[in-house]
Parts: sequence; C-alpha cells; structure tokens
Amino acid sequence: MEIEVKGKRAAVTELQKVTHRIRIVHVPTCIPNEFLAFKLNEVGVVVKQIGYDYNRNDGLMSNVGVGVVECKDIDRIPDTMFWRLDGMTGRALIFVQGRSLRCYRCGSRLHKVAQCTALRSYANASRRGGGDQQEMDDLETEDLHMILSDLGKGTFGESAA
Ligand SMILES: [Zn+2]
Repeated sequence: MEIEVKGKRAAVTELQKVTHRIRIVHVPTCIPNEFLAFKLNEVGVVVKQIGYDYNRNDGLMSNVGVGVVECKDIDRIPDTMFWRLDGMTGRALIFVQGRSLRCYRCGSRLHKVAQCTALRSYANASRRGGGDQQEMDDLETEDLHMILSDLGKGTFGESAA
C-alpha cells in the first residue's frame, strides 16, 4: 500500500506543520480507523491518512495500522493509547518513524525496558550499542508475543456485539 502525504490544500501554512508516518499495533481490525483517528485527534494529532498495512510478500492485509499524522510537536503522538469500543478495550502501541521507543518503565527513549536499570539492579552492560532499528525490531517482536497472549491470538470475529 502506498501512502501519500497530500493535504487537500497546498497552503503555505501547511508547511509549518510536520507530518509523521506511524504504525499502530494492538488494535484488532474490527476497530474502525475513524475511531483511532478520533482518539488521536483528542490529543492534538491530526490524522491525514490511516489504513492497514499489507504484507509485501503475499499481498494480504495485516492487522498493523499505518498512517500519516500531522502535529506541531512529535511528542504529542502518544507511545501508547488506551481505547474502548463496544465492550472491547486495549492498549494500542504507536510507533513513529524516526522516534525511538520509550522504555515502559522509566520513560527514557535511550533504551528499552529489558535494558532498564531504573528499578532492577541487574545491569546488562554487555548488550549496548545496538542500532535503533535493531531495538525497534526486538521490541516489536516482544509486543507481538504480548498480543498473542493478551488477545487470544487476536481472533476477533465479525460478531463483536
Ligand atoms: Zn528504563
């Protein structure tokens, strides 16, 4: 799927705002994209485009949301976002292109929770200096494991009522 960043107007004021590509996980596909856009809008993030990613190999739609958002401050985009709709609740994780992930425990963007020394005393000094991309991949894999255990393999049917 090709994402284009094209506002309806090409006004000069548009240039002052910055667009960011995002990925959203932990949201079942039965949740409308409009709902997610609304939730982001509540915190001051304007969603320009939102949809689901497609696997490049088999062309099948995935449950990973992809979007383009616009905001003045990248920190307005939350790392996690609670949602509740029709009796279902969850915590979406939002990945922003070019932004490091925040440690769940202490909030730092310099490491992930497995390397956090804020509360625990074990210092994993041997594993330092991995690239950001590597860290992101690692964390996303951990998150996907969390999805599978949390949501019962994510098998949400059409009959969510
Ligand atoms: Zn930490």
